[in-house]
Amino acid sequence: MSQIVSNQQLVQIANKFGTPVYVYHAERITEQYQKLQTAFSKCNAQFFYACKSLTNINILKHINNLGASLDCVSINEVKLGLMAGFEADNILFTPNCVDFEEILQAKDLGVKINIDNISILEQFGNTFGNNYPVCIRVNPHIMAGGNFKISTGHVDSKFGISIHQMRHIERVVKTTNLNVEGIHMHTGSEIKDVNVFLEGLEVMFTIASHFPNLKYIDLGSGFKVPYQPTDSETDLTSLGEKVAEAFSAFENETGKKIQVWFEPGKYLVSQAGYFVVKANVIKQTPATVFAGVNSGFNHLIRPMMYEAYHHIQNISNENATERIYTVVGNICETDTFAWDRKITEVREGDYLVFYNAGAYGFEMSSNFNSRLKPAEVMVENGEAKLIRQRDVFEDLLRNQVL
Ligand SMILES: *Cc1c(COP(=O)(O)O)cnc(C)c1O
Repeated sequence: MSQIVSNQQLVQIANKFGTPVYVYHAERITEQYQKLQTAFSKCNAQFFYACKSLTNINILKHINNLGASLDCVSINEVKLGLMAGFEADNILFTPNCVDFEEILQAKDLGVKINIDNISILEQFGNTFGNNYPVCIRVNPHIMAGGNFKISTGHVDSKFGISIHQMRHIERVVKTTNLNVEGIHMHTGSEIKDVNVFLEGLEVMFTIASHFPNLKYIDLGSGFKVPYQPTDSETDLTSLGEKVAEAFSAFENETGKKIQVWFEPGKYLVSQAGYFVVKANVIKQTPATVFAGVNSGFNHLIRPMMYEAYHHIQNISNENATERIYTVVGNICETDTFAWDRKITEVREGDYLVFYNAGAYGFEMSSNFNSRLKPAEVMVENGEAKLIRQRDVFEDLLRNQVL
């Protein structure tokens, strides 16, 4: 049985801290981390939490305590990671289209640097030569995942250096004497098919021979978790076995011991998160019954942005008859969380919960419509603790020149 926060406790949290509120379950994050460790126990693996999915410093501290490393996409994430206690050496900085200045800052902070375009590679090599090791992000041109918006390995993607530019990479590395210690790929999110990783790994093995100092191959992330009750997740046990086999074959062939890295975001925190809102209005139109809640896509944008499904339950009226609702938010623009959903009868004032709200929920929230961002709560050892105050009106004016 997986670790869960009971609906009853969610109601208590909503009563105590108000709604809308994000709730994260520390033990569930631990459980996911342990599942990864078990699945890849036969590999020399290291896991870098992709913290863009959820950066609350309390979550970062918890994940650091588990022994994980950290994957960051901005210099501010790097700084948050250092504040949370991650060692610089256990932080990988994987930026895209940033100013060279930001890369220099990361170098000064001593973190690992993942470079994803040739001009930066060249600048870095010209400046530092072999004095500071780097990782190179390549694009293996593998189409992965179900959703084009979150797929990054295809030929039109802005991410990584094309695998077809190997000659150019090699020339830059050679002329600037760069020390390439890692190669990286990340082909997208919600990849169910383990073959995507294995095909990518084959591509990585093919180019590995160009880099004599190679220490690790980073296969990125994209592990899928179930959002719908009928969904399945990436079969990590099978992937773990196949990756272990592939690496031991590579080792036999080349005599090289190389680590495999992964960068799970969603996998670690999605299912640990709950988003609790209150039904403000039940509105019957000739076509539909709307349940209008005290939140909107400014707090949880995944349904509007990716057509993502979040399972919803009425935790104030669990045993009532199910009816069909379209659940909408209060933003003045089309703002639909769910279409034609069976939910036990919703009365005005009831609490609804969105499950799997840990990843890319709070993190993508905004103050659109001058609405306040929600509070965040962490449940650990059964106890609920506030880890971010709800915005107050003054937060809307902060930084405005009055
Ligand atoms: C977003 C991202 C991840 C995490 O992806 P998930 O689907 O949340 O696991 C990992 N690596 C990089 C480089 C990313 O940009």
